[in-house]
Amino acid sequence: MGSVQIVTTILAAAITAVAVWLAVRAVLKMVAVIRLGQPAPERFTDRLVRAKTMLVETAGHTRMLKWGVVGAAHWFVMVGFVVLSLLVLEAYFEVVTPTGGLPIIGHWTVFGLATEIIGVLGLVGILVLMAIRLRNRPTRPGGRSRFTGSTMWQGYFVEWIVLLVLIFGFVIRGFKVATDHFEYPFWATPVSHAVGAVLPDWHDGASVAAVIKIIISMTWLIVISLNVTMGVAWHRFLAFPNIFFKREPAKPAGSGLGALRPMTSQGKPLDFEEADPEKDQFGVAHVEQFSWKGLLDFSTCTECGRCQSQCPAWNTGKPLSPKLLVLSLRDHAYAKAPYLLAGGGKDLTGEEKATAAQLAHLDVLALAEGDKPLIGTAESGGVIDPDVLWSCTTCGACVEQCPVDIEHVDHIVDMRRYQVLIESSFPSEAGVMLRNLENKGNPWGAPQNTREDWTKGLDFEVPRVGEVDDFEYLFWVGCAGAFEDRAKKTTRAVATLLNEAGVSFAILGEGETCSGDPARRIGNEFVFQMLAQQNVETLNEAFEGRDRAKRKIVATCPHCFNTLGNEYGQLGGEFEVVHHTQLLAHLVSSGKLTPVQPVDGGVTYHDPCYLGRHNRVFAAPREVLGDAIAGDLTEMPRNSERSFCCGAGGARMWMEEKIGKRINVDRVEEAMATGAKTVAVGCPFCSTMLSDGVNGKGAGEQVEVIDVATVLLRSVKPEQPQGEKAAPIAG
Ligand code: SF4
Ligand code: SF4
Repeated sequence: MGSVQIVTTILAAAITAVAVWLAVRAVLKMVAVIRLGQPAPERFTDRLVRAKTMLVETAGHTRMLKWGVVGAAHWFVMVGFVVLSLLVLEAYFEVVTPTGGLPIIGHWTVFGLATEIIGVLGLVGILVLMAIRLRNRPTRPGGRSRFTGSTMWQGYFVEWIVLLVLIFGFVIRGFKVATDHFEYPFWATPVSHAVGAVLPDWHDGASVAAVIKIIISMTWLIVISLNVTMGVAWHRFLAFPNIFFKREPAKPAGSGLGALRPMTSQGKPLDFEEADPEKDQFGVAHVEQFSWKGLLDFSTCTECGRCQSQCPAWNTGKPLSPKLLVLSLRDHAYAKAPYLLAGGGKDLTGEEKATAAQLAHLDVLALAEGDKPLIGTAESGGVIDPDVLWSCTTCGACVEQCPVDIEHVDHIVDMRRYQVLIESSFPSEAGVMLRNLENKGNPWGAPQNTREDWTKGLDFEVPRVGEVDDFEYLFWVGCAGAFEDRAKKTTRAVATLLNEAGVSFAILGEGETCSGDPARRIGNEFVFQMLAQQNVETLNEAFEGRDRAKRKIVATCPHCFNTLGNEYGQLGGEFEVVHHTQLLAHLVSSGKLTPVQPVDGGVTYHDPCYLGRHNRVFAAPREVLGDAIAGDLTEMPRNSERSFCCGAGGARMWMEEKIGKRINVDRVEEAMATGAKTVAVGCPFCSTMLSDGVNGKGAGEQVEVIDVATVLLRSVKPEQPQGEKAAPIAG
């Protein structure tokens, strides 16, 4: 060993020892913080499915590749990181001797070829990612980007480290070529040979380049170990467990979409008949009341801002960004952790758990963090501003986009649950809706005996459950479908089409009550359970004696469709629920409904969040429209998975929109820009929001917002009077 190799070996060993020690300390710290969360036993089921999903999502980059160029570039960088870690290992042999290499595989041409290819693709990938980050930097002319609020130096730092490590990989090889100690043939390693052609014949060159590569790599490890909240780096490790432990691993996408998680205390679902707010946790009031998976979610965020770029609240000037919300929770959790790990925290009655002696050695910052309210205004030192919490429409665009499967909607609703159930703190205008739900069983407060009024004037009898011996579908009308004037037209259109197609169906009539969706999304789990249990009982009775496949329900409201199909199972109600557009598509394709007169003037379709993203029904409404309209459907730029919310979900329908641009106006502008005369929808709330938006633009005479069912009815029964214009919202 020459003197140069003695120096390079000592340097490599010293910096590696420091980096590894710091990394072990950082990992232990992170594990300790994540373990502060509440139990989540359901995350340990289906381990084989979980492992498969994790492998498919990471190795296949299935979620990342939804953004083609970024996804492909990131895939090369990820593969480069994994495979080229072997070359970092090889550098430890090269600092000892410049001709050194990995034992066994370090002499295989296949290894030389594979690492050469991955090195080149990794270089291209990282340059693309760097260019994208620069092009989208928040400080660029033109304003906000998906990186607004991300810690930009961390992103640049990680990217430069990757770039330099890759470059030095080729420099080491180049010195071996230049000194004639390179084992791989030119055909397998042309780039290394090209680099070698311009480097001097310096015997110690490979050792010096190798120690630089190790110093760069270990500097990265030291920096990320000193910054445990540096998700842009740590996600390389944390993404694997975060995806493994996601809520519903078998779901193809958006594990945190569809059903909400039940309210849990100590990892067990809460039943309000027995729950006690002094013993059971009602929602989340403190960051440690999230489950450990929630804390893992916050730690894993890469700060990529994909969620932010799609969020309707953020895009219309509200203070909510799902990314910034996650980052605030992460930073708060890690800053509060020393206080919690010392035994601090509040019990369910609000009393401090730690003794003065336990907290005596803590620094003031950790103590101050422990005192911060989780929800509170900036003046009160709150971590999450109430305006942030209540701006969410639960549209799920963030969950859909997140490449590491963070479950934003669950976390937002968990925080709402505490605010509503314990603090009674929520936008006051929503109080009317909640009172109406409790007292009248519908958000409008309409009398229950008017639930069947929509049937008046139809030229056929609408059968009620109990009046007919048998029926194939139970037609779940929903509160909007029964009481709201626009939605009543959809209800009548669907009933007419079902009757026309000879489908045997029946309604519950006055036996139906609100599905509970608005109560659940606003955080009032108590009212949700009350309504849902009542409905489950009614439905179980209606379907008595039938097995699940024959407990068929058709719903026109995607919120009811989602709640009945995905959430009633949590309360013992198992049903086969379809959306009316799915049933209509089937009836058309099977020849039971025949469109005869195409609807013209151009039609565009707005995907309701709870039909599309939350339940992945994208094709059926398009199939119905495809059969019923003249020409092709005109898609809006934001459609299907990336559709833009109408602004009514998450119980936002019953809250005032005081901040920023109105979400429905943003969506209507996009719809009107297509030039279509008809905006087709599949949800009564979307219908209301978009109709209001169109009318607000003074375009009510030129553009009509109607349900897919109405479009189909116009095509199937053109002779039927259809010209009713939207009436004002009832209630
Ligand atoms: S659910 Fe929708 S509104 Fe809520 S944070 Fe996510 S993207 Fe924004
Ligand atoms: S998409 Fe996911 S990883 Fe990216 S910023 Fe949002 S929460 Fe973080």
